[in-house]
Amino acid sequence: MTNNNIFKIAQLQLDRCAKTLHLEQNIHELLRVPMRELHVSLPVRMDNGTVRIFRGFRVQYNDAKGPTKGGLRFHPDETIDTVRALAAWMTWKCSLMDLPLGGAKGGIICNPKELSLIELEQLSRAYIRSIYNFIGPNKDIPAPDVYTTPQIMAWMMDEYSTIAGENKFGVITGKPIPLGGSIGRGDATARGGIYTIKEAVRECDIDLEKATFAIQGYGNAGYYAAHLAKAIFGSKIVAVSDSQGGIYCERGLDPEVVLEHKNRTGSVIDMPDADTISNEELLELNVDILIPSALEEQITETNASNIRAKIVAELANGPTTPEADDILYNNGIHVIPDFLCNAGGVTVSYLEMVQNASIYYWDEAQVYDILSKRMKSSYYTVLNTSKKYKISMREAAYVVAVGRVVEAMKLRGWV
Ligand code: GLU
Repeated sequence: MTNNNIFKIAQLQLDRCAKTLHLEQNIHELLRVPMRELHVSLPVRMDNGTVRIFRGFRVQYNDAKGPTKGGLRFHPDETIDTVRALAAWMTWKCSLMDLPLGGAKGGIICNPKELSLIELEQLSRAYIRSIYNFIGPNKDIPAPDVYTTPQIMAWMMDEYSTIAGENKFGVITGKPIPLGGSIGRGDATARGGIYTIKEAVRECDIDLEKATFAIQGYGNAGYYAAHLAKAIFGSKIVAVSDSQGGIYCERGLDPEVVLEHKNRTGSVIDMPDADTISNEELLELNVDILIPSALEEQITETNASNIRAKIVAELANGPTTPEADDILYNNGIHVIPDFLCNAGGVTVSYLEMVQNASIYYWDEAQVYDILSKRMKSSYYTVLNTSKKYKISMREAAYVVAVGRVVEAMKLRGWV
């Protein structure tokens, strides 16, 4: 999705952790690359009668701790290396959250904005037919990610169930609620991040009622982060953006009005009563809390020293490069690293799997209670590790997550 190879970044992060943990060379070698990956070509009949071939991937990075889990992206700039990096991060994410799952990721190179609903359905079903033997409720369980929706999850579950000859709700998560989806999955990524911010402000002396937020990205994660920060904390959202640009309003934006404007016009830009800013300017605003919730590599060595927020809460996967990490750490900025901050999504996905397997569904209070406890306890595990070893929050998250995967691999007799 970016010019640089983000899998190299994921490997570099692991290399740092391997040093801290004094990992044996063979263990480090095994964790540096995916265990399995599948590349597929998908012929899809388009509305105009022609057949177009799409490329898709599914990468199972490591399943030492359980069946692999992770989302699917539909994006024109998708590459196998992006998927590998994201699959690695899913492995560390599930481990850090203490879920009995490994990590995976998938993707199709396509621009869903240019596909009709029928073409999108055909593509989703073709993908499942191609990877049918590779996935399964006890093997590898996909979910939504960038530009994939509950409706797409429903088609995929239906295709898988049709081939299996019986309903297999547990093969995919992020489904619509009437089809075995979990209450609370829709805003879970943002809600989980908000729960970590609630703890992080204690470290940074921020009063959430008076706090200002800037949010990069206004998709599922970004919008709900804005909505929940205002609804739960009463904070002020001064800036938001999407791929076309950003808006700023010192008095604070109303997240619902911005969403309505975006749904009507296709973008958050050109909102009445708000100034236009670029995505780059948004990152450098003088706010208390910055939430990158778009794509990878947004905070780099070029702009990291200009970041003025006290907390960077990474709802996106991989928004900060390792060089930028060092700068933020040296400048005393409190980073809630991606695979902690955005782990709410997969945590509620796991609860969806449990509900599917038991054919019994929980209410909102039960889901929120488990999510908030898990987020809080993982946040403090990372914070305490970072203080104990005097390392950044990201390095601490790696030390905990990788350490658990290594323990599982050793117990299984792999290494
Ligand atoms: N795509 C989300 C993530 O990056 C959720 C994955 C899942 O629910 O399995 O964490």
